[in-house]
Amino acid sequence: TGSELFLPQRANSRGRDITDRPTLALLDAARAPFRDTLWQAAPLVATEATGPTRELREPATGRLVGRVTEADAATVAAAIDDARPWSAPLAERAAILNRAADLYEANEGEIFALLAREAGKTLNDGVGELREAVDFLRYYAAQAQGPDGSGVWACISPWNFPLAIFTGQIAAALVTGNAVLAKPAPQTPLIAHRAVQWLHEAGVPRDALQLLPGGAETGGALTADPRLSGVAFTGSTGTAQRIRAAMANGPAGRPLIAETGGINAMVVDSTALPEQAVRDILTSAFRSAGQRCSALRCLYLQEEVAEPVLHMLRGAMAELRPGDPWDLSTDLGPVIDVQAQASIQAHIDRARGKGRVVAERPVPHHGTFVAPTVIRVTGIADIEREVFGPVLHVATYKAADLDRVIDAVNATGMGLTFGFHSRIDDRVQRIVDRVRAGNLYINRNQIGAVVGSQPFGGEGLSGTGPKAGGPHYLPRFGPRTPEVATR
Ligand code: GLU
Repeated sequence: TGSELFLPQRANSRGRDITDRPTLALLDAARAPFRDTLWQAAPLVATEATGPTRELREPATGRLVGRVTEADAATVAAAIDDARPWSAPLAERAAILNRAADLYEANEGEIFALLAREAGKTLNDGVGELREAVDFLRYYAAQAQGPDGSGVWACISPWNFPLAIFTGQIAAALVTGNAVLAKPAPQTPLIAHRAVQWLHEAGVPRDALQLLPGGAETGGALTADPRLSGVAFTGSTGTAQRIRAAMANGPAGRPLIAETGGINAMVVDSTALPEQAVRDILTSAFRSAGQRCSALRCLYLQEEVAEPVLHMLRGAMAELRPGDPWDLSTDLGPVIDVQAQASIQAHIDRARGKGRVVAERPVPHHGTFVAPTVIRVTGIADIEREVFGPVLHVATYKAADLDRVIDAVNATGMGLTFGFHSRIDDRVQRIVDRVRAGNLYINRNQIGAVVGSQPFGGEGLSGTGPKAGGPHYLPRFGPRTPEVATR
């Protein structure tokens, strides 16, 4: 037919359809044995490890989930000494990553349990995350072509996708022949520990992939080490800047691949379908309790439709079901920890003091829940920082000001996702041409980029590129191209 010329030699995971009752019952049964499991995480390194031990608790309930021993500076230094780039032939590396994807899928019950209990994720989010993780493994395995990188990479990942982003960074660095030192977020070391065990079980050598659980101290010791060949990082813009500064003390020209935050906007004009816009606003702003860097933070409504859309949005928010992410009826879980809760709550309280809260959905008083809240602003420039939770800012605009709205969005200097709802094709095209954002979504929600078809990453302060899950990602992990001398 000819189409095989264009189709990659792989398919994305089909995921699991949780609207199908028998499937849901199967998934629920698969995770049931892990309801009370206490997991243990520790450095997975070639030699002996030392460091402090901490407890991890479920964000929604405070129940114990497990304990982690973190890697101190001496353990980090020893792990870098012991790291050996993965020298197996490319085909073997790719086969092992595919085997790891199969192992992840075979352990889906434990993964859904860990995502719910350690990271506060609903089963729906858990299904999406497992799917993205296995897609990263299989996509990079299929994409890799050589030549090999053969360096030592640090992969530093966030708690909001503690399996998918953790796995994506590692898979990219490994399939290109490097050694990896993986540092998961301090909030989610348990799932990271299991993931590395499955990668080892699939055949990744222990000196090619080591796990260094820990927080800022562990990360600081790691990124300051001049022996690193590069760093892949997803997290805040501030941490990315600290990593860049730490790397500046070592050899020049080493890549930092950073995916950071955004103050993402959506514009809904008066030709949009309100019912569809409301559904997509709800998903973009409040799914995963707003803890995605892709999430909608600033909604611009054309003034003619502002009141009806807001009215419908309030009604839809009232239908959200907050609760323990383990419960199948829950569609709004907690935020990750008390620090996050306090910081988001402080932002909401300041807005309330100014009389700007226009909608909110009450949540349980225990655990680290934050009430989904809508805050009125005059424009995106009023939002001083990325608030990483279920908080939506709303502004209105006049039809004649649409270009100025886009200029204001561009002026944040960030540019991760952008959404536009309109039924006028020319206008859509004009906005697409004008807006500077990595991922643009028209007449749909603006989260949940799909590996291989929607490479994910931002512009400006939102990231360095290349986009994850796209064709330009792997070459950054290959041999370093000589720096062009600058005057
Ligand atoms: N790739 C995710 C999405 O499209 C977001 C990743 C992140 O939050 O870091 O929703």
